[in-house]
Amino acid sequence: MICHCDYCHYTFDSAVSHLGDSIPESCPDCGKTHISAYTPAVRKATESEATEYRRIREEILSEEREGQW
Ligand SMILES: [Zn+2]
Repeated sequence: MICHCDYCHYTFDSAVSHLGDSIPESCPDCGKTHISAYTPAVRKATESEATEYRRIREEILSEEREGQW
């Protein structure tokens, strides 16, 4: 699942960094669990955030491929 941290605005794939297809309790980047008492830091990414995440990841992958010789 693509997740987004509202604290540090980090978008990540929970299947890669965490426990399969679930929303982790804390952000793998900043480690926050909550923004305020009742607002979790990490939530499911919106469709546009997930699209942006995949686009950036594709860019990184293609740069890595170009960097190889
Ligand atoms: Zn974070």
